[in-house]
Amino acid sequence: MVKDGLRRPGLATVLVGEDPASQLYVRMKHAACVEAGIESFHYSLPVTACQSALDAVIDHLNQDDQVSGILVQLPLPDPFDAEQTLRRVALAKDVDGFHPVNIGRLAQKGRTALLPPCTPLGILTLLKLEIGNLAGKNAVVLGRSNVVGMPTALMLVKEDATVTICHSRSENLPAICRGADILVSAVGKPAYVKGDWVREGAVVIDVGISRVPDERSVRGYRMVGDVDFAEVSKVASAMTKVTGGVGPMTIAMLMRNTLAAAQMQQGMQPA
Ligand code: NAP
Repeated sequence: MVKDGLRRPGLATVLVGEDPASQLYVRMKHAACVEAGIESFHYSLPVTACQSALDAVIDHLNQDDQVSGILVQLPLPDPFDAEQTLRRVALAKDVDGFHPVNIGRLAQKGRTALLPPCTPLGILTLLKLEIGNLAGKNAVVLGRSNVVGMPTALMLVKEDATVTICHSRSENLPAICRGADILVSAVGKPAYVKGDWVREGAVVIDVGISRVPDERSVRGYRMVGDVDFAEVSKVASAMTKVTGGVGPMTIAMLMRNTLAAAQMQQGMQPA
């Protein structure tokens, strides 16, 4: 749709297979588009499709002017090649911020990603709202994945925080975490971070989401974060909750990136 000579932003989602969690995430993104006034398009491929079929969908979307942003829902089932797929998305439409060039620019001093990855951008937005200037803060990031831990750590470095990245082979985690002014946990282990890991007054961001059995729930399970909320909320000055917290911020940042991509594609400076 064109209004006053400007195209309305449009987001295309691409889903391979029928993973229920991925289907739910895609539905949530489309619902957010409706709320934000962004057009949305959806492309589904069966799990039996081949890489060249997925490549063809992305090539088509790269050429489509109605599509400002392309989101390939991850993880892709085997044997699809996630890196090849993400590299194929036009840089200007990489609203998930996972194109290797966008990630590479995050790792370089003096450069910024054209479109930053959504979950890390949501985390940074929350931290800046709560703390303001992050320069000189000690930040500990639990997790080093390509989608959360590593880009979050790189973005914190760009804010001049002093960053420690921990992973499954790290030792003395409680002691390392106790040195943090900012603690971000993206591990995926329920209630892993305990109250005595956290310094009084620290700001804690809980990214992890795990499903744990719960007979009292009609679904038979509930979603919990990495952080033991009951314990940590007694010592942290601020913390996010699961559910809520980082999840809605991720979707909000996807909307932000889609708008920014549409603005840049039409020669405007993103807000
Ligand atoms: P991932 O790819 O599985 O990465 C998990 C990371 O945690 C890895 O770097 C792993 O270390 C590290 N790790 C595993 N066990 C550990 C331990 N005992 N101590 C310290 N580090 C440990 O997961 P992800 O994609 O980053 O996602 C992490 C969590 O965030 C998941 O629960 C996911 O569902 C959630 N998530 C939430 C959102 C949202 O919007 N709220 C978005 C994305 C992800 P190694 O590298 O050594 O294996």
